[in-house]
Amino acid sequence: MIYHQVLVVGGGLAGLRAAIEAADSGLDVAVISRVHPVRSHSGAAQGGINAALGNVEGSRDDSWEKHAFDTVKGSDYLADQDAAEILAREAPERVYEAEHWGCPFSRTDEGKIAQRPFGGAGYPRCCYAADRTGHVLLHTYFEQTVKRGLKVYEERQVLELARGDDGACHGVVCLNLVNGSLEAFGASAVVFATGGFGRIYARSTNALINTGGPLAVAFWAGVPLKDMEFVQFHPTSLWGTNILITEGARGEGGYLLNSRGERFMAAYAPKAMELAPRDIVSRAIETEVLEGRGFENAYVHLDLRHLGAKKILERLPSIREIAMDFAGIDPIVKPIPVQPAQHYAMGGIDTDVDGATALPGFFAAGECACVSVHGANRLGGNSLMETIVFGRRAGAAAARYVGGLENGDGRGRARAAALRAAMLRAEGRVFNLLAGEGGEDPAALRKAMAVAMSDKLGIFRSEGPMREAAATLAELKQRAQRVCVRSRERRYNLELATVLELGGMIEVAETIALGALARRESRGSHARTDFKERDDRNWLKHTVAHWTPEGPRFDYTPVRITRWQPEARRY
Ligand SMILES: Cc1cc2nc3c(=O)[nH]c(=O)nc-3n(C[C@H](O)[C@H](O)[C@H](O)COP(=O)(O)OP(=O)(O)OC[C@H]3O[C@@H](n4cnc5c(N)ncnc54)[C@H](O)[C@@H]3O)c2cc1C
Repeated sequence: MIYHQVLVVGGGLAGLRAAIEAADSGLDVAVISRVHPVRSHSGAAQGGINAALGNVEGSRDDSWEKHAFDTVKGSDYLADQDAAEILAREAPERVYEAEHWGCPFSRTDEGKIAQRPFGGAGYPRCCYAADRTGHVLLHTYFEQTVKRGLKVYEERQVLELARGDDGACHGVVCLNLVNGSLEAFGASAVVFATGGFGRIYARSTNALINTGGPLAVAFWAGVPLKDMEFVQFHPTSLWGTNILITEGARGEGGYLLNSRGERFMAAYAPKAMELAPRDIVSRAIETEVLEGRGFENAYVHLDLRHLGAKKILERLPSIREIAMDFAGIDPIVKPIPVQPAQHYAMGGIDTDVDGATALPGFFAAGECACVSVHGANRLGGNSLMETIVFGRRAGAAAARYVGGLENGDGRGRARAAALRAAMLRAEGRVFNLLAGEGGEDPAALRKAMAVAMSDKLGIFRSEGPMREAAATLAELKQRAQRVCVRSRERRYNLELATVLELGGMIEVAETIALGALARRESRGSHARTDFKERDDRNWLKHTVAHWTPEGPRFDYTPVRITRWQPEARRY
């Protein structure tokens, strides 16, 4: 058995920042990742990362308090305000740390880190590197892990968490994608930083590996999932492929037009216009299309032409490339066809502000976690910041936890038993798939799940369609027990790897559908046409889903309010 004091699962920004912190505490740390770290979805982030630096004209009197307030207001008051304060207060320090580690941010004429306006923010607060911010950040952090000589086990897919009889987490069991073997990794603490679950939906801006499978792994081990019904739809994905067109395009002055040539945002958010928060802009686009003012009943235009070639080439070069390569459109001369698509998970593994969960020794950070900093709607630029603020904190907390164990741990027997049990479960699952004769086609089931989620748990929701989606998921869950794989090859069997996640994805989808059905109000991204108002009296609370064999059981926990009482949200 391989053993490391701290095991970080996920090589994106949250995972790498956690690993760096735990290693700097003097511990033996390793990272497990399904892909090479720099291929994590963090690298696809475009627009930027929020920190109240006050570096540009119009932002001189910005402050971390204003950043925290914008975050809370953007969250439709569901964010835990202590968490939002931590995010905003620690943000400048994290940006300067990345700068000192060599991150090539775009610069102002004075040579300071440049900042652009982003949705729902009162000031230009979003630090960026052209439209490749995630890419440069991820490489910066990866360099730091190389510098520290951190061990990375890549091309490993975590299948099971080892929970001991002593009620603590002792490691994970992975599928080695290269040779198909199952491997046990023992650890004194495990940090999950496994990213989002966009691929539960049919239309998503997320990478194909963002399946949400690891959420199910934690869920099965008794770790609750929080606020899963809050799913963010990004207003502007490229029509057809749903590749993201960054909010930075609107931050730089791009605007949205319907088929009548109107800047329709004036009717929805007269002050903020295109830079209203994402939930509001997505609903506006969806409404324009539903009411017949879209193009081809499907999309609207994002017009950048007035920005001019120079600005587009300098600030949005990748957006131009994406539009040209995937839609045959050069935004310097033509508007980009855009439609909303699933983009981000506000919900996830229920953690405190240090990434700790209900399972001792098990931590989570980044998009897979719900701290909760984004509440019912995340502001653009806040997720990258969440990954490094809370990744660092989770790494530090894991190190403190390991430091507090007696005799430098001393739980060898409990660990061995927990890993054996987890290995048996994993072997059973792989054996059943490889040997099984079940007649169900996993690809068809996955598609049925994704379509049900996109059609019935999308931007606008109501009781009837959500009930239908829940019924579809319940049926798919049964059928998923009868799937098998066609290729019995062990080496690099991506079919096996994908099918191993199917059951878990359906269970994660169920927490979204049933959590959304239960929440009879509209808040942030959760917009119900049958309960249109926010209902603070009954619903200013977090949804917490617990795994049971019969399906998720829900309870609710209070929102932590430090200084801002809920108000009507106007932009
Ligand atoms: C196209 C796009 C653009 C974005 N732009 C911005 C932006 O400009 N600003 C902003 O703030 N946010 C942006 N976001 C959101 C933000 O990028 C993500 O929320 C954030 O990067 C997630 O980081 P992470 O470290 O939590 O996860 P990821 O970067 O997704 O990393 C997840 C890691 O987990 C590993 N993993 C997953 N499953 C398993 C498994 N079963 N076993 C082992 N390893 C596993 C993967 O290999 C990967 O290394 C964007 C998102 C997208 C999709």
